[in-house]
Amino acid sequence: MAELLPRLRLFLITAVAGAALTIACSGDDEEPVLEPAVIVATSTPGVRPTSPPDASPTPPAQAQSRTAFRFGSGVAPEDRAYMQAGIDLAVDYMARAAGIDPVKSTLYAYPHPELLRIALTDDIDNPLLIDAAVRRLAVIPAEAHLGGLILVSPSTAEWQARSSVSRIRVVAHEYFHLVQMQLLGHVAERIASTPVDRERPEGPSWLFEGSADWVSWQALESAELSSLDGYLASVTVPNDVDIAGLETFIEYYHAGEDRALLPLVAVDLLVRDDVRSLTRFYESVGRGLPWREAFSAAFGRPVPSFYAELREELAGR
Ligand SMILES: [Zn+2]
Repeated sequence: MAELLPRLRLFLITAVAGAALTIACSGDDEEPVLEPAVIVATSTPGVRPTSPPDASPTPPAQAQSRTAFRFGSGVAPEDRAYMQAGIDLAVDYMARAAGIDPVKSTLYAYPHPELLRIALTDDIDNPLLIDAAVRRLAVIPAEAHLGGLILVSPSTAEWQARSSVSRIRVVAHEYFHLVQMQLLGHVAERIASTPVDRERPEGPSWLFEGSADWVSWQALESAELSSLDGYLASVTVPNDVDIAGLETFIEYYHAGEDRALLPLVAVDLLVRDDVRSLTRFYESVGRGLPWREAFSAAFGRPVPSFYAELREELAGR
């Protein structure tokens, strides 16, 4: 495995730069399919079957995912491995860094919309919700649902345009949404029913999405598949949107490319190395604390102070 690492780092340099960050941004990174041997370097249990006989040493015991995979016909073997790696890395990272038990979940990956529609009837009762999900997944590559569901759409142009690392990352991103929803408890049930231009019950959209991105980067970094510091040092943060303008759902989704990068920079500054501050925040909101109070308690400074801190940081970049 040692000799894989230099290749992996080279791969990282080419694959991570420009990687799409969120479920709705366009993937413009083109990268050859990740070879199974490189996947082995993640040392995740879910991808171990591809390990060559001499791949060692034995990695330390890791948290075992509780995710069931339902793959429709036509999902490429490498895509199955990326999805499993995304789950395994995120599960393992959240267990090690924050003591979060694996979330019981099901990942559906169906290239054909009508087969996805039929499969989802096993987990979603409301046909209108299924219909809406199938329509969204004709365009977006992945989404997370209440009840521990991750839906991946490997036939979308955006999934196809993503590099192998980016495909792993988007699944890790969705897995963290499941963690958030589990910590939020009943508050998570109000996410979908809250009008898109209102104050979010789950906390600001920049934090909800930015923390999923941040965790996905950290999870892949633990397997040396990406380097967030390196990435952030290489990019220019757009300055036409302020973080205070990314709190509601509609603000976030109208922010174009800014919505991918600015929240990631913000969460990196907010959290530093303390991922438990994120889980404390969502736990507190789940217990009924208004998000601004939970923010002060979890992150050690009130929202306006953090916004000022971030503006100062961005001005100094
Ligand atoms: Zn997301």
